[in-house]
Amino acid sequence: MPTTVKNVLDAKGYAVVAVDPSKTLQQVAEILNEKKIGAVVIVGVEQRIAGIFTERDLVRSIAKHGCDVLSETVRSVMTTTIQHCRLEQTVDEVMAMMTAGRFRHVPVEKDGQLAGIISIGDVVKSRMQEVEMEAEQMKAYIAS
Ligand code: AMP
Repeated sequence: MPTTVKNVLDAKGYAVVAVDPSKTLQQVAEILNEKKIGAVVIVGVEQRIAGIFTERDLVRSIAKHGCDVLSETVRSVMTTTIQHCRLEQTVDEVMAMMTAGRFRHVPVEKDGQLAGIISIGDVVKSRMQEVEMEAEQMKAYIAS
């Protein structure tokens, strides 16, 4: 059975660091630093996904507009064309999505609301576990 997004979230947890669109880039930078994460999801009413803002967006914004941009709201610079996934999708599908879109974070949506997040780190961890399990099964098969 292929590993699903639900399998990954059951193991790591469903908590997501989500922020209001009115937060400034300075506040978001502090959150990214404190929580030791690379992205925040911006949510609107009823926990609906409104955007995503990652450390890459922060670097890009500062490079383009200078440090003054830190007082702007995240609403003005977040990515709004978000690709999300569902709980029943496989980790391989999410990995393909990340590769094609060149991003490292995929929010999980359930019933139109933010329900979790999968990062490239979660995908790598999950793939490593699968590879280790396959190797163990192969060893056991050869030994028997
Ligand atoms: P990342 O590699 O996740 O730091 O993101 C690289 C760029 O893609 C940034 O501009 C992000 O805002 C954007 N991005 C990140 N995740 C997603 C996503 N799931 N859907 C669309 N864009 C994204």
